[in-house]
Amino acid sequence: MSKTHYSLILTVVLLLILSACHSLWTAQIPVSTVSQRETVMTLPTTEIPLPATDFSFIFPSKPELNQIEPPRKNITEELTARDKSYIGVVDPLLMADENSMIIDLSLIQEEAYAFPLPGAKVISPYAGRRKHHSGVDLKTCANDTIVSAFDGIVRMAKPYYAYGNVVVVRHYNGLETVYSHNSKNLVKPGDRVKAGQPIALTGRTGRATTEHLHFEVRVNGQHFNPNLVFNLTERKLNNQCLVFTKKGNNIAVEPIELKFPYRWSSDSYSYKAATVKSKATSHL
Ligand SMILES: [Zn+2]
Repeated sequence: MSKTHYSLILTVVLLLILSACHSLWTAQIPVSTVSQRETVMTLPTTEIPLPATDFSFIFPSKPELNQIEPPRKNITEELTARDKSYIGVVDPLLMADENSMIIDLSLIQEEAYAFPLPGAKVISPYAGRRKHHSGVDLKTCANDTIVSAFDGIVRMAKPYYAYGNVVVVRHYNGLETVYSHNSKNLVKPGDRVKAGQPIALTGRTGRATTEHLHFEVRVNGQHFNPNLVFNLTERKLNNQCLVFTKKGNNIAVEPIELKFPYRWSSDSYSYKAATVKSKATSHL
């Protein structure tokens, strides 16, 4: 083949390529233009009304159902000198704007709870024969490890009269727990502790004739029966709600048994007639 033939073939090929490129370019432009035009043309000129969905079955408006809350409460974390010095103190934030508060124990996850003295048995119940026992006594040997029942902030850790060495933990769930007669406290006020974290060693400091853990549960400074929170035989949390209601200077504690699915109906509460009123005395 001559040079002329080669040049001719090359020119034809180049022309074909250029033609193909041009047709591709021209093919894209109209498509894009058309789609833009269509988009502009199909934009709504008026607002589309949202479907009228009734969410009231999920977010009930009745006051009693507003009590359904997550376990975390509004608690005071900045501790005062009084907080660090006394066992029965009121938290100014807790129940500040409400006459009652509910703590749903069933919402507390398993890892967010620990029995304060693993394996220990109750040797003296709340109230008890003396009627004024402000907590439960758990049998122990010397220097067993006491752990925090829930997550929280250590409010007080010091020797305190008949309590001996005592630790008080303010929990995010609204409760406070008290651990008394310790041989040694392992934490200090302001420490943040997790459920199950060691906070003290058992002992017989203060008014105690044998080694035991005097354990209290309190709300806003007032102790109440730990049996409402814990199954002390099985060392588990009770699967129930507790309603705390201000009654003068006292707080009444009332357990509510929940019938599934209690979150969806205002009529499915069943109340136990087991109101427990306790005075803020501190006999050990
Ligand atoms: Zn006791």
